[in-house]
Amino acid sequence: NRVYRLVTRPQGMVKDSDFALKEEPKPELQGDGQILVRNLYLSVDPTQRGWLERDTYMPMIGLGEVMRAFGAGRVVASRDPGFAPGDLVSGMVGWQDHVVLPAKGPAAPSKLPPGVPVENALSLFGITGLTAYFGLLDIGRPQEGDTVLVSGAAGATGMAVGQIAKIKGCRVIGIAGGKEKTSWLTGELGFDAAIDYKAEDVSARIKELAPRGVNVFFENVGGAILEAGLDHLAQRARVVLCGAISGYNDSFSMQGPRNYMNLVLTRSRMEGFIIIDYFDRVGEAMKDLGTWLQAGKIKDRIDIAEGLDQAPAALRRLFEGKNIGKQLVKIADA
Ligand code: NDP
Repeated sequence: NRVYRLVTRPQGMVKDSDFALKEEPKPELQGDGQILVRNLYLSVDPTQRGWLERDTYMPMIGLGEVMRAFGAGRVVASRDPGFAPGDLVSGMVGWQDHVVLPAKGPAAPSKLPPGVPVENALSLFGITGLTAYFGLLDIGRPQEGDTVLVSGAAGATGMAVGQIAKIKGCRVIGIAGGKEKTSWLTGELGFDAAIDYKAEDVSARIKELAPRGVNVFFENVGGAILEAGLDHLAQRARVVLCGAISGYNDSFSMQGPRNYMNLVLTRSRMEGFIIIDYFDRVGEAMKDLGTWLQAGKIKDRIDIAEGLDQAPAALRRLFEGKNIGKQLVKIADA
């Protein structure tokens, strides 16, 4: 039973040596109300970098503790009537082969939606799909005909945001790093335009592509990209603050936008959110996402790293922009 524990707090990009991979005894059920899960896939999320360094919406991970991670696995033993061996579940499984979880309460896992492959259950039907759905629809409130700008557009959250905005009748502009990503957004996902922030002047391109301004700006990146979007807000625009990945390796030291006065001048709203506040509304999202997937209106894309020992490298991939779509680590066959 392999377990990754945090041994040093990373400075900048995470290193393999910030974690120690150890062989430990397989955990056992200690009492009623517990289940033992064989982990199959780990979700790789930018927020994990934050958990390594400070208390956020969750406490920081302690030195010596198992690296916290969302993921999915199969129940192999259960002392609770709600779960049976064979059930597929998702929850906070950690970077390890097996985990004992409580069957009830806030740390309990959820059963995967029936008929959904595990990979998609962690992507479009997982945290990032839900983040896209509620962040865009509840905070961004797009109207038909709106122009929606999304940064981090070729990542797990961004790809879903752009496609949902298209379904809602909006014009969608994505911002992503590199030609391969921008071509995929416009060629495969139906985005109206995509800006390669590594090669183009983002603010100038937004002006060209959205001469009447941006109605909804779904923001995943922070820093210069946030500022470029704020340069081109339409009146009463909604700026959805989902994340600011450009600052996560830098102790969250990002600067505030120099041009926030544009929010005043355009009577716009900028609002953050954390997806866990929407967990009681998951059913709504699942219904719509399932319908759209079946109708071929939305696509999912998974980027898989093979093997538990690849977990630190997979986390780095997010910050190096190597992933396209949802980054997962596969640790065992489903
Ligand atoms: P992604 O799949 O989008 O992966 C991260 C992507 O960010 C990379 O592929 C990379 O793409 C881009 N990126 C990395 N560093 C930079 C940089 N310095 N400048 C510009 N782009 C960069 O991850 P997720 O979909 O999981 O997360 C996206 C965002 O959503 C994050 O900010 C995350 O924290 C946030 N989030 C927020 C939630 C909430 O509840 N508020 C819940 C889930 C996620 P590229 O090649 O284009 O640079």
